Formats: sequence, structure tokens, C-alpha cells
Amino acid sequence: MEIKLLAFDSFGVRSQSTFVQTRDAIIHIDPAVSLAPLRYKLPPHKREVQRLIECAKVIEEHARDAEIIIVTHYHYDHHDPGKLVPIDIYRNKIVYIKHPEVKINRSQMQRAARFLNLIKPIAKEVRIADGNSITIGKTVIKFSQPVPHGVNDRLGYVVEVSISDGEQKLLYTSDVEGPPLPEQVQFILEERPDILIVDGPMTYMLGFRYSKKALEASIQHLKKIIDAGVKTIVIDHHFMRDLKYRERLADVYKYGEEKGVRVICAAEFMNRPIEMLEALRDKLYQEEYAPGEIPDNIKEILEE
Ligand SMILES: [Zn+2]
Ligand SMILES: [Zn+2]
Repeated sequence: MEIKLLAFDSFGVRSQSTFVQTRDAIIHIDPAVSLAPLRYKLPPHKREVQRLIECAKVIEEHARDAEIIIVTHYHYDHHDPGKLVPIDIYRNKIVYIKHPEVKINRSQMQRAARFLNLIKPIAKEVRIADGNSITIGKTVIKFSQPVPHGVNDRLGYVVEVSISDGEQKLLYTSDVEGPPLPEQVQFILEERPDILIVDGPMTYMLGFRYSKKALEASIQHLKKIIDAGVKTIVIDHHFMRDLKYRERLADVYKYGEEKGVRVICAAEFMNRPIEMLEALRDKLYQEEYAPGEIPDNIKEILEE
């Protein structure tokens, strides 16, 4: 299979947009991208807005080629109601979505309803992902049961996605923030992927919205996943908003090295420079005071 990581936090935006091509299917997971509306009390810098626009273009181009589009939950860095990435990407596609009414919080339920109204008239078919699976030739796509978005379900639930082409297996966790919970790890241990794309611990909020305990649990879980035979772990998204990311997971990097498992971020996977623009926002402003120009219609989708 060919895996292209299109937009991630290590590229300078908020996203985990992933494009997978097997002999049997072209699949795009979470075709959307966003920015933190405020970091260090500063709005996005010009360079971040430029990167946001670039990434949105790349996502749009790839999504147009996809046959299957997967939406793992309804945060704006994972689905876009046509603000930055045109809704037309869903035209004639099979769309797998996180259940819009079951195991979902109120804000995501509202967004899901709005999103469904937009895509239903143009998609070929809209199917519920939760616990579902589909086989196309040798390609099998499996979805986990909904798991909490982080340490609890305050932010709702996400579905994890496993894609196998018969030779290789990729697993995409979506927003698990760690993963700190056993139920988020269960699907990974059952599926035993070769490549794991995981949303790492939210350590830039350590001691505020993310506890030491959650970090400790995530470290134990990541080690367990290494023991289960994964070959490459791509750890990114919430994790790559912290400039100290390497020391936060020093244990995991060391354990991976001992076991011959690559632990890298999305930028490294794609052989591009690591550009943690959000975490560097205060420095960017010191270099050049240049707030990005953000059109009003895009402001709405600037969030996690
Ligand atoms: Zn999310
Ligand atoms: Zn996210």
C-alpha cells in the first residue's frame, strides 16, 4: 500500500489527514485541516495561515481521487463543512462516518447533522463506520467501536480505522490523546498493525487539561503496542504541539529503539522538515510581527 500523510501538526497545522492507496481501493481519512485560534494568547501567524491554505489544497486534490472517504469524528480538523476544503470532494464517494447520533457529545451531534445535510445529496452512499467493516478484493477496512476522544468522553468519541491490503496493515487511531485508556488500545492490540498512526499524549496541556497520570498510562500503552509487533509508530497531532515532545516520551523512544521499532512523527515519515509552527508561534511573532489574514468564513473552523 502507498501511504501519504497529507497534513499533520508536525507540518505546522492541526490535522491527521491520511491518504491510502491499495491495489483495490483509494481511501482518504479525515480530509480537513485547522489551526489553533489562540496559542500563547496569539492568533495564527502568517506562516501558519499560508501552510493551512497549502495543506487544504493538497487535501482537496487527494480527496478528489479517493473512492472512499472516512470521517472519524466531527471536529473541524477532521471534517470540513465546505469552508476551506470544498464539500464537492464528497461527490459520488462512499463515505464512512462516525455515527452522528450514538456515542457522541452535543456539539459534535449538531455538527454531524449539518455535515450530513451537506454530503447526503452528493455522496454515492453514506455508511456508519462504528464497528463496521468492508472488504474490497484483498483490501479490508475495519472500524473500531467508538472510543473516547482523550481521557474521558467530554469531547465525544472517535472511531479508529484499520486498513489491510493483505500484505501490510495500517491503523489510524484518530484523536485518542495518548492513548491513555485501555479501550483505545484494545482495537490496536487485536488488529496488530505494521504501521500505527497515533494521536500522542496532549503534553502541551500537561498539568492543566492533561494529567501526569494520563501521560503515564499512555507510555505504558505505547510500550505494549511496541511489544505487539508494530514496525513503525507515527506519533503526532496533539503530541506535536509540545516543543519538549522528545523528553515527554523518552521512555517510548528508548524502548522502540531497543525493540527495533521506528517511532517518528508524520513529517519524518514523509521525509520533510519538522515544522511545529503552532508550538513556535510566539517565536514566529518575535521574528516578524505578522498575524495571518483569516477570512471570516474560515474563522469558524479554527479549533482543535
Ligand atoms: Zn478531535
Ligand atoms: Zn484532531
